[in-house]
Amino acid sequence: MKAVETLRREGYDGALCLIGDEPCAPYQRPPLSKAFLKGETSMERLLLTSETYFAEHKVDTMFGRRVQAIDVNARAVDVGREQRLSYSKLLLATGSRARSLDIPGSGLEGVHSLRTIDDARQLSAAATSGAARIAIIGGGYIGLEVAASMRACRHDVTIIESADRFLKRVVCPEVSDFFEDLHQRNGVKILKGARPERILGERHVCGMELANGAIIACDIVLIGIGSIPETDIAAASGIVTDNGIKVDQSCRTSASDVYAAGDCTLFPSRRYGGFVRLESVQNAIDQGKAAAHAMLGGAISYDPVPWFWSDQYNVKLQIAGLSRGYERVEVERGEQPDSLVATYFRDGRMIGVDAVNQPRAYLKARRALEAENPSS
Ligand code: NAP
Repeated sequence: MKAVETLRREGYDGALCLIGDEPCAPYQRPPLSKAFLKGETSMERLLLTSETYFAEHKVDTMFGRRVQAIDVNARAVDVGREQRLSYSKLLLATGSRARSLDIPGSGLEGVHSLRTIDDARQLSAAATSGAARIAIIGGGYIGLEVAASMRACRHDVTIIESADRFLKRVVCPEVSDFFEDLHQRNGVKILKGARPERILGERHVCGMELANGAIIACDIVLIGIGSIPETDIAAASGIVTDNGIKVDQSCRTSASDVYAAGDCTLFPSRRYGGFVRLESVQNAIDQGKAAAHAMLGGAISYDPVPWFWSDQYNVKLQIAGLSRGYERVEVERGEQPDSLVATYFRDGRMIGVDAVNQPRAYLKARRALEAENPSS
């Protein structure tokens, strides 16, 4: 959507078509695990544009249509129903999908994942149909945010995490411990180092069996064990992929005049070295804009300082930079309760910050990182 808006704003007045497999116009995903799940906001408020935007800006839309194939030689897209669209430039912003858990019982009624508004509606309907016992598999962003939302609705929540701590891939042990304590204080039951072996039930879920034989009684299961970039269509058309659609700094894929942006891409980063894939709204927005500029012939060198945020209970976690590969971390508790800052260093340089209820520290770190020249 950001690419469409940028193309029009920058003066492109040729034909433009937006194709998406969900049956609705593009919407914000971050509230799905938070305000939308708690019934505090509506679908209409999540939409990224007004109803009239597409007509006013002469943008053709194909919602609820899944692209079947791309013919990069003929420069055409097969949109099903025996319809092909030719293109002079094509942008792939296919995003990612929820990783599935292939264990017995994962197809039972009451087993959910959360990626789309439809998923959020189903989860919310299941949870609002009475007091529920909810088992959440995965202590990542989805798992922790949904746990907080479900506790706000007074449901009984258990998180089952396979690692020995929450958010293990993105934060240091001290920040993981903070979030474990936060959830425990809010009444969430936590099982770490635990692997679900099977989901129990006849038609509808009634429990879960773990690898150690323990049984957890539950009415709803949410699987939040990560996401997989949507690369299938690109790969099938011969575009180079590798846990993401490979693009250069101008968002160009290996196929002529085909660009990609967002969760689905793997882009080169001088800032962090090698190729990076980011799963964040900031990246979807900024890389979408960058790709649009590149499609219009602009000189683009996309290499952002990533940032993320997560809201849980009364806590806002803000992350600037990428801490992976850090050599040292300094953790400082704030004066206010539930506040801390973790600053990560590598080669003597600050590479990232996790700020809990410390917006100033976060902003300061983000600005400092942005001021650095990635090539120096
Ligand atoms: P995630 O943040 O990658 O977390 C998945 C968690 O599940 C990891 O801790 C993982 O542990 C654990 N896990 C994996 N397999 C498991 C298993 N079989 N049993 C128990 N635990 C298991 O992914 P997510 O929470 O599902 O989020 C999905 C996507 O939505 C991501 O792209 C995320 O960035 C995005 N999202 C972002 C936000 C935000 O930025 N605030 C909010 C919601 C969603 P290992 O690491 O050991 O595999």
